[in-house]
Amino acid sequence: MNHIHCSVFGHDYIVSKDVTRYVKEYQCKHCKKQMTTSVNGNLIPLTPKFQEINSVLKSMHRKKEKRKTLVFNR
Ligand SMILES: [Zn+2]
Repeated sequence: MNHIHCSVFGHDYIVSKDVTRYVKEYQCKHCKKQMTTSVNGNLIPLTPKFQEINSVLKSMHRKKEKRKTLVFNR
């Protein structure tokens, strides 16, 4: 079932989670459809498998960037 706005204008994605500098998770603000960035930079649907990959990526990224002390816990 598509949200009417999305079928007319297309999805309107906003960043819902920063995974790494290059990989982010997006959510359509109208129908709540979730997408993520694939390895080649395209937007692909955020499946449970990619959610898992992203959380691994995120924890690896955090270890790599120890200098960054800003942590967003929300
Ligand atoms: Zn949408």
